[in-house]
Amino acid sequence: MTEQLDELYAHAHEKHVVVVGGGVAGLIAAWECAKVGMRVTVLEAGERPGGVLRSAEVGGVVLDLGAESFATRGGHVRALIDELGLSDDVVAPGTGAGGAWVAGVPGVGAAPLPKGGVLGIPANPFAEDVRRILGWGGAWRAYLDRLKPVLTIGHEHSLGRLVRSRLGEKALDRLVAPVTTGVYSAHPDDIDPDVAAPGLNAALTRTGSLTGAVADLAGARTSAPGGAVLGLRGGMARLADALVERLEVLGAEVRTRAAVDGLERAGATWTIRLAAREERDEDDAVSGPAVDVGPLEADVVVVAIGEAGARRLLAPHVTGLAAEPARPGPVVEIVTLVLDAPELDAKPRGTGVLTVPGSHRAKALTHATAKWQWVAEAAGAHRHVVRVSFGTQNEEPATAGLDDDEAAALALEEASALLGVALAPHQLAGARRERFLQAQPAATVGLKAATAQARAAIQTAPGIGAVGAWLAGTGLAQVVPDAIAEAERVRRRALFS
Ligand SMILES: Cc1cc2nc3c(=O)[nH]c(=O)nc-3n(C[C@H](O)[C@H](O)[C@H](O)COP(=O)(O)OP(=O)(O)OC[C@H]3O[C@@H](n4cnc5c(N)ncnc54)[C@H](O)[C@@H]3O)c2cc1C
Repeated sequence: MTEQLDELYAHAHEKHVVVVGGGVAGLIAAWECAKVGMRVTVLEAGERPGGVLRSAEVGGVVLDLGAESFATRGGHVRALIDELGLSDDVVAPGTGAGGAWVAGVPGVGAAPLPKGGVLGIPANPFAEDVRRILGWGGAWRAYLDRLKPVLTIGHEHSLGRLVRSRLGEKALDRLVAPVTTGVYSAHPDDIDPDVAAPGLNAALTRTGSLTGAVADLAGARTSAPGGAVLGLRGGMARLADALVERLEVLGAEVRTRAAVDGLERAGATWTIRLAAREERDEDDAVSGPAVDVGPLEADVVVVAIGEAGARRLLAPHVTGLAAEPARPGPVVEIVTLVLDAPELDAKPRGTGVLTVPGSHRAKALTHATAKWQWVAEAAGAHRHVVRVSFGTQNEEPATAGLDDDEAAALALEEASALLGVALAPHQLAGARRERFLQAQPAATVGLKAATAQARAAIQTAPGIGAVGAWLAGTGLAQVVPDAIAEAERVRRRALFS
């Protein structure tokens, strides 16, 4: 038995896997391959691995600049965290601050986002917190849902159409659109309820109304609009750091400033071509000069970058895979502000604010020092961290044409408006703007079928795999298990076929 295992390990060690892209998906795929003894090289275009999991010091506090939490759904991210030995640092968002608010409600301004809904859809239109946002007229219209018969043939594939037809425009614009825009960067019309809220359509048929369906589902769900989330003390970027550490322990190499611009295959061997600095793609967030290394050879390549780059690399080798995405994902900019602002100690808008689309230039704000106790402790007394986000699927970020100082000034103005507190430039202790090309949310209408087709095509090609948010759907809860499953498939095929 030991002999067989030694043989398997020796066989695995003969295989060289190159992972293109050092975001969380690429690091996980690399780790899964390194665990069984395969030789692994990760090629990351940027200065640091981690991708959207990135942190930096802003105003003296080390903060997440991209992803800052994970959904508990499925338990996969938590299992990874446990495996990486970070369990003691898992933290829940603070409850003392109340939940999130919605701003830009016509005639109302800002109000707490009603509790107990699903994707902003309320269970009871006449609940005080719902009626406050919809007004009596909007609440009556939404209540008509209880009287309107449900079509039993087929079901609705657009969340927007479903909510509009059953609850009316006000419920759509003031409750549901702020949630999907804030959480998915997408309008409800583009969201598939079957993916975003599994079971909702079935509960609608069962209970005879949409609000009844929500009441039915809500019992089993959390009241937070985006679902239950947890974080990591010190920031989610620690997940990437821990993965890199584990890779190094297993002898894998993680190269940064190494952007891949082409793959060639001769027999069973891949040649991976690295780009010169000026040839690289703007969207691929490359900075710093290229490290001058020649082409690499590999038995297996795992492509773990954004959709546009991945399709370009894969299409020449994968029959039936289009070289261009059908629709690019949204560009999102997050401006992190560190403020000396005792007036925010009272957490005036709970953990943050979502906006009614069109009412503000920012789409959402997170009051990080209200949401995360560890951030409040790291910042110190009366110092606050807010993250202001711009840009959705249908709208360029308002910060896009601005330099960093102008973007910080705009974010400060929006933070004042969204938090309902006058904040002056002299209160700013630090600011940092980050730009992201986000993958389409998994719940985008039609995306499930399109990615299934892309994945099936990729799986027919020998010696190659693909992972990442464009295939799994955006969000760590999707990306993590998907990367593990794809790495398992790729390594099994490389070792046993
Ligand atoms: C602003 C923002 C906030 C988010 N917040 C959360 C959150 O709080 N919770 C949550 O669960 N999810 C969140 N998400 C989603 C989640 O972070 C992502 O789905 C996930 O991190 C994507 O990982 P990835 O490895 O697929 O891609 P990425 O993190 O984008 O990694 C891809 C990597 O590939 C590199 N690369 C690109 N081209 C090349 C090339 N040619 N050669 C070599 N390397 C290349 C890039 O530099 C990058 O490092 C957020 C996403 C965004 C954009």
